[in-house]
Parts: sequence; structure tokens; C-alpha cells
Amino acid sequence: MEKLIYEKSSPGRRGVKVPTSNVPEKKLSDMIPSQYVRKEAAALPEVTELDTMRHFVRLSHLNHSIDTGFYPLGSCTMKYNPKVNDAMAALEGFRELHPHQPVDQIQGALELLYNLEQMIAEIVGLPHVTFQPAAGAHGELTGLLLIRAYFEAKGQTNRNIVIVPDTAHGTNPATAALAGFEVVEIGSNEKGLVDIEALKGALNENVAAIMLTNPNTLGLFEEEIMTVQKLMHEAGGMLYYDGANLNAIMGLVRPGDMGFDVCHLNLHKSFSTPHGGGGPGGCAVAARKELLPFFPKPVVVKTNDGYEFDWNREQSIGKIKGFFGNFGILVRAYTYILANGREGLEQISRDAILNANYLKEQLKHIYDLPHTQSCMHEFVISGSRQKARGVSTSHIAKRLLDYGVHAPTVYFPLVVPEAMMIEPTETESKDTLDSFVEIMTSIDKETIETPDVVLNAPHTTPVAKLDEALAARKPNLRWTPGT
Ligand SMILES: *Cc1c(COP(=O)(O)O)cnc(C)c1O
Repeated sequence: MEKLIYEKSSPGRRGVKVPTSNVPEKKLSDMIPSQYVRKEAAALPEVTELDTMRHFVRLSHLNHSIDTGFYPLGSCTMKYNPKVNDAMAALEGFRELHPHQPVDQIQGALELLYNLEQMIAEIVGLPHVTFQPAAGAHGELTGLLLIRAYFEAKGQTNRNIVIVPDTAHGTNPATAALAGFEVVEIGSNEKGLVDIEALKGALNENVAAIMLTNPNTLGLFEEEIMTVQKLMHEAGGMLYYDGANLNAIMGLVRPGDMGFDVCHLNLHKSFSTPHGGGGPGGCAVAARKELLPFFPKPVVVKTNDGYEFDWNREQSIGKIKGFFGNFGILVRAYTYILANGREGLEQISRDAILNANYLKEQLKHIYDLPHTQSCMHEFVISGSRQKARGVSTSHIAKRLLDYGVHAPTVYFPLVVPEAMMIEPTETESKDTLDSFVEIMTSIDKETIETPDVVLNAPHTTPVAKLDEALAARKPNLRWTPGT
């Protein structure tokens, strides 16, 4: 492998030339207490701009990415993000804003926030929206804190239980616990949907909410959702919609119309922000009007003189993030919604559903399909048949990398053994889907004819099979000079 950037360092080499300062120098020791001042200079690499550029571009090519290959990562919606959205977020008028600027200088940004709120409210069927949370799990926390504040204001402090189904995304029970609730899990029925009898058994006067994803993480639409919402509301609790992935329902159905009281959307999944490398996320939390008094502050309001921040909100849960959310992500979502329009968003959902069902029908002959009904934007197959031949889902996932495809989400949801959760998204062509079917067929054949090839995969990636136990127990995350 090519040498790392630190090893390319050469004394005195520089990437930039900074002009000599004409500001009088202050002594470092006047600004930083002496015990914190380094005795020796940091061992930073000394390299040119070109060295640096090549280093990072080369590193970026070592990773799989949606811009370089198919990425059917269920529950994460790794779809292609049109570059025009990045270009809009990079417009000088947005990019150069400072969050401490006075409101009369940021009217355009406030108008964008205000309009985006109206659009998201229309898409989810709930009237009020905040964009403060940084990402999905943070949005869940915000939503549950709203619910808690609401019940506290009503004097119903006994409501300390949140129900989650066994197919829930792991963040749901974690969030409920973090927000101070007790988590009660309920099972699914044989169709992979919420078990209504189990729900009835769990409902009582101490329940604050149920957290649901619809379609659920098996990619199945909760057909009994209206029964669920009726039972929940009769028990005095609320319904929280985990809308991390909206690709299946945009323009088709609305969480508000299904009876949900609060929901969050991951703007970095369905609304066109690149993610997957731990980059910034963005989140919208929408809720019905009874929850508005508790919203994080400030709230953007429209007055006769333009847009303003309303900070004067006594019952607010306060701030849950610095400033006003990840603004660049919001610009991308705004551009994406405007570019697609109402019909476009609906078409996205229809195509996402079509692509998933097409793949499911092709793959079900080779891999076990535990839930056979039509799916929404994703589906879950099982590698149990291959496992019986000694090749598990984790091996198949690694072998896919050799074919230039990112692995699907594996071993989740937990209710399916050897699970592979596949989400093709609407942005892929039939050619790509067909070639994925061919690859999955070849791997299945390999599990019979040449199982060692699969068991020892990957063979073509920059780093071969890792010792996962060692990587987890003794991770080597830090480069040290001279090693
Ligand atoms: C991705 C996801 C989340 C969490 O979102 P983050 O932005 O990663 O915090 C929650 N629920 C579901 C169903 C998801 O797919």
C-alpha cells in the first residue's frame, strides 16, 4: 500500500504560505496558562498541498460509497443524492451565514426554515415542526421529551412507560430509557406485525406512548395501525412515529392521518443528504398542536415585519442543540422537496416500493423469505439455507464486497435468523437490480461448490478479512509517530 501521509513528511515542506502578520504578537504564555503550553512542537506531518490532496482522495477511494456502487443497506436509505442539493447548500448566502448574525441579516435563512416547516408538516400531516435535533436518535429524544413535558404539564406524572415492538430499531428502546421511561417490549404476530393482543395486555394508565415504525423494520406495513392508534388513544397515551425512513410513504400516506401524535424524519436518509460515513445529519420533529408549547426554542415565527425567533416560550423543553439545527442539511432537504414537488415525492415512494418488491420476488427462490406478503421499500431475507451448508450471513455479506456491492444490513431485525435486510431505493435502475440478483445467485452457488471462497472473503478489498474479535477488543485507532 502507498505510504501514509505522516510517512511522507519532510522537514520544511509546506502546503500554504501565510503572509507575515502585521498584528502585534502576544506571548502565548499571556493567553494560555503555562501548564497547558506544549514543551515540544506537535509531531505534525510537513507536506505539500498536492501530497495532502492525493492522500485524502486515495483514502476516499478505499471506501465503498453510493457514488461508486450499489449500497442496499436496509433501514439506512443509502440512495443517490443529486449534487444540485449540495450546490444550493454551498451558495455563499447560506454558507457564509453566522448563527450570531442579527435576524434582519438572515431573513432568507429564516424564510427557508419557515417554508420547510410548512412542507414537512404537509408531508407528515402534523402541523408543527422543529429542526433543532442533529439526527434521528436525537429527534426521538426530542419527541419523547415533548411527550413527557406534555403529561407533566397535565399532572399525569405516573405515565412512565413506553411500549416498543420487538422489531423496533435499537435506538427506540435506548431513547425511551434515556428520556427516563421504562421500556416494555411487545412481540410481533406470525405476519411480522404488531400483535394486537400483546398490545392490549401492555396498555394501562401508566403508559405514555408507543414507538412504531410503519412500515416496520421488516419492510411491512402495519395493516392494523388504525386499531393500534384507537387502543392507544383510549388508554390516554400517544403514538410516536419513527420516520427515519420516509421513502416508502412520502406522498402516499401521512403519519398524522394514521393517528400518530409525534414523529421524526431523518433528513439524511430520505431527504437527500449524503450519510454513512458519520457525516452531519439533520432531523425534523413534527407534532400535533397540543405539543407546540413544549417545542425546543427558539421557534421561527412570521410577523408583519418579516421572520423572527420566538424565544419567549415558558413551557419549552429548552434547547437541545447549539443554535438552530444543522442548517446545510435543511437547505438540501428544501431543495430536494422543491425539485421533486408533490408528484415527484409520491413517485419516489412508488419506485422505492416497486424496486424492493422486484428484488424480493427474484431472490426468494434462492434465499428464505420468512414474510411473503408484499413489502414496502425494503424486505428481509434469511441466509438459513446457506447457513446449513456452513456459510453464514456474515460471510455472504463479506463476499458481496468482492463483487463491488455494499452488504445489506445483517442480523437485524432480530426476529429473523441470519437476516439480510435489503433496501434497493428508487434511485437504482433495473440493470443494477438484475446484476445484484446475479451476484446473489453466484454467491449461493459458491456456498455449494466452493464454500472456502465465501468463507475467506473478501479477497479484492484493500484490507482483507479482519479478526473482528481482536478489532473490537483491541482496536488500534491511533497513529503514533515512529510506529
Ligand atoms: C437510522 C434510523 C434511526 C436513527 O437515526 P440516526 O440519524 O442514525 O440517529 C432510527 N430509526 C430507524 C428506523 C432508522 O432507520
